[in-house]
Amino acid sequence: MKKISLLLVLFIVFVACKPAQKTENEKFTVVTTTTMITDLVKVLGGDAIEVKGIMGAGVDPHLYKASEGDVTKLSQADLIIYNGLHLEGKLVDVFEKMNQMGKQTLALGDFLSHEQIINSEAFASSHDPHIWFSINNWKSITELLVNELIKKDPENTAIYTKNGTAYVKQLRALKDEMEAKIAELPIEKRILVTAHDAFSYFGKEFDFEVVGLQGLSTATEAGVKDVQRISDYIIKNKVKAIFVESSVPKRTVEALQASVNSKGQKVIIGGELFSDALGNPTEETGKYIGMFKYNVNTIVDALK
Ligand SMILES: [Zn+2]
Repeated sequence: MKKISLLLVLFIVFVACKPAQKTENEKFTVVTTTTMITDLVKVLGGDAIEVKGIMGAGVDPHLYKASEGDVTKLSQADLIIYNGLHLEGKLVDVFEKMNQMGKQTLALGDFLSHEQIINSEAFASSHDPHIWFSINNWKSITELLVNELIKKDPENTAIYTKNGTAYVKQLRALKDEMEAKIAELPIEKRILVTAHDAFSYFGKEFDFEVVGLQGLSTATEAGVKDVQRISDYIIKNKVKAIFVESSVPKRTVEALQASVNSKGQKVIIGGELFSDALGNPTEETGKYIGMFKYNVNTIVDALK
């Protein structure tokens, strides 16, 4: 609590210091939380938006706490965009306070309907926050975000409309390509065991049984009982491969592998998936579309 209070004091100071009027060359500035959101706003904004992402590659948003540098960035934003649904669990208070102080904020989870969100009592918000793993959801979010950007920065309407239309087309093509790749995997082999429960939206959209070791939030460590239960499940269903994640420590998945092996069955670690963060920004996996293709190829090739 002490840390948050200090950050809020700093925040007030920064807000007070910010000039009310933009100079002519100043761009519309958007501060984003996760790398998925940073990527989306960069795609939609092009040169029209100055995008400042708070979280980098490999960062776990469930556990992320704001630094002083983040507060500076947030306080200078024209608009703050975050995932919501309690994904950024340690930043909730900061966002709420900013809202009360008149900063414009958007939570992407609020864009989705009840039908588009998976309910889960395992998470603080009672909703699964990993909404980007449904390409359909991400497409809806893109369309609604274009409208919001136009409302908040009408000068660049043409740019947002053009980039949004092109990106929705790319997301449609991505969905088709992923369906074709996943069709290589018979339905009984579509079992995805990962380090934490990030893939329920993916499972729903592409007919996978999804098992996550740590439950929905990485704030809870996988218990010994969980490891036993899931290792029995892997043996019963003859699962060939399980997966580690780039933003979650590998040790729980390795413990699961050891447990299966100790019971006389072999399971391999099929690769590292990008779950709650994209890859390095200079690589293809540093973009949402590249990340999705990499994950699906890794999953299908390991389970085939
Ligand atoms: Zn997660």
